[in-house]
Amino acid sequence: MRLDVRGKLFLVSVLLVLSVVLVAGGYLEGQIREWAHGRAQAELLAQARVGRVALAYDTAPADAVADELGAASGTRVTIIDRSGKVLGDSELAASELATVESHDDRPEVVDAVAHGEGRAVRYSATLGTDMMYIAVPFTAGAVSGTLRVARPLEEMDAAVRRLRIALGIAGLLSLAGAVVLSGLASHFLARTLRTLVADARRAVEGEEPRQPSETPDEPGLAGSLNRMAAELESTVGMLAAERSRFEAVLESMAEGVVAVDQAQQLTLINRAALGLLSLSIEHGGSTLAERIPIPALLELVQRALAGQPERREFETRTTPPRQVLAYASPLRNQQGAVVVMHDVTEIRRLERVRRDFVANVSHELRTPVSIIRANAETLLDGAIEKPEIARRFLDAQLRSADRLAALVADLLEISRIEAGTYEMSPDEIELEPIVAHTIDEVERLAQEKHIEITSSVAEDMTVWADEQALEQVLLNLIDNAVKYTPAEGKIRVRAARRGDMVRIEVEDNGPGIEPRHRARVFERFYRVDKGRSREVGGTGLGLAIVKHLAEAMKGQVGVEPAEPHGSIFWLTLPAASD
Ligand code: ADP
Repeated sequence: MRLDVRGKLFLVSVLLVLSVVLVAGGYLEGQIREWAHGRAQAELLAQARVGRVALAYDTAPADAVADELGAASGTRVTIIDRSGKVLGDSELAASELATVESHDDRPEVVDAVAHGEGRAVRYSATLGTDMMYIAVPFTAGAVSGTLRVARPLEEMDAAVRRLRIALGIAGLLSLAGAVVLSGLASHFLARTLRTLVADARRAVEGEEPRQPSETPDEPGLAGSLNRMAAELESTVGMLAAERSRFEAVLESMAEGVVAVDQAQQLTLINRAALGLLSLSIEHGGSTLAERIPIPALLELVQRALAGQPERREFETRTTPPRQVLAYASPLRNQQGAVVVMHDVTEIRRLERVRRDFVANVSHELRTPVSIIRANAETLLDGAIEKPEIARRFLDAQLRSADRLAALVADLLEISRIEAGTYEMSPDEIELEPIVAHTIDEVERLAQEKHIEITSSVAEDMTVWADEQALEQVLLNLIDNAVKYTPAEGKIRVRAARRGDMVRIEVEDNGPGIEPRHRARVFERFYRVDKGRSREVGGTGLGLAIVKHLAEAMKGQVGVEPAEPHGSIFWLTLPAASD
């Protein structure tokens, strides 16, 4: 059976009162019994002494005196002579005395003779009940002996019994009072407790700071409880704020973050990590091996869990694959490991491009330099003495020097654009005069090859561009067309408005560019035919510069095949606003 607080309080207080009543009652009863026996003894002794005096003066037969004394004092009076023979007894008739055995061995009688006073409590065979005996020696004329006074214990015990009943009633009454009072006390206490519990519950449920409830008995307790609740609330609030700050930082990180516990169960994975590894939040298992089965990553995490921080680069299994540099370190409390992943795909690509570029540049430079050197050696070895041969070698040196100069100029140009130091000042520019001017620049070479260049750019066509950059772009495109178109070819330049943009096209009827090369001709040093490019004095950087400049002017470039053969290099630029 389960008791509520109130029931428990009530039970405890009732048990307390009951035990107090029982202990106090038991002790009191013992005390009263002792006191009653003492009183009875004192009374009996007094009566015995009075009897002794009466005996000394009375001359009547001893049995008659004993009867009289017994009747007067309400006790049993026995007169015993020195030999122990009973001379008189208030409870026995004179005729019965002869049959009474000798009393000289009774302890009270022995004591009375020896010490002048004897007392004993014992069962009386004569009366068939427990008796208290007091005996004193006496002398009456020639007779001397012991006078004994006795009273049944029953009488004294009756008084004690009455007292016990009275005590019992008083105990019951106080128990009843205690029950009522403890009932009331537990009721009030339980009510106070209930109020406090309700307050605590409200505090836990996060209700607004409450007014201290009416608990007049324990105002301090209610106050402490409220203070505790307020502190709890602020601590929980602080923790929540801390957590959301942590989450915000984690979610806005560009780096992927993954945390695992000692059993390699995933405990945290941020948005960047999901994106990097193309995972969805819902799918997959709960362990790292199930969610991200990349051996290099698993090995890294195992080492970190063994207390060894490490970094490693691996490729993801996404399409396209991404290059990831991951750092794994054990958590400080040894409860797992955390991995931070950087997407280094772009960095690695740029590194590769730079490596290729440096290799290409050195290769491009080496050829003219070695020609110059070889020719100089040949001249020094004696060729200089033969003017007709010497001229050929010097010519070749000059061409190589020109090539070097063109290469260096293009390289400088491209690095200037990439470094962002190429000053662009876009403006509204009329297209037609620039196209005409550019055509003039290549006119000499075109005439040599009998190539016809025509422009059909409208006079009022304007673009929003940097004049110098635009001129360079057009020159590169038209110059390429002239260079790569065989003799008697035709080149057409035109421009048309397309929405917000102007599309300029340079079409030739040369050999054209195979589809597989089209996307790549704008790469640095990419050439469809190396020998041909060198022959016409190309550096392989022209179209790369065109692409860079066009993009810097918010435009685009591309190449398409022309019909029936040839190429159309196109360039779009923002139209000048009306
Ligand atoms: P290059 O200095 O070699 O001309 P470019 O960057 O200007 O370098 O051009 C890259 C390559 O594109 C050239 O080597 C050539 O093979 C090809 N190309 C460019 N323009 C034309 C064109 N009009 N017709 C055919 N091929 C061309």
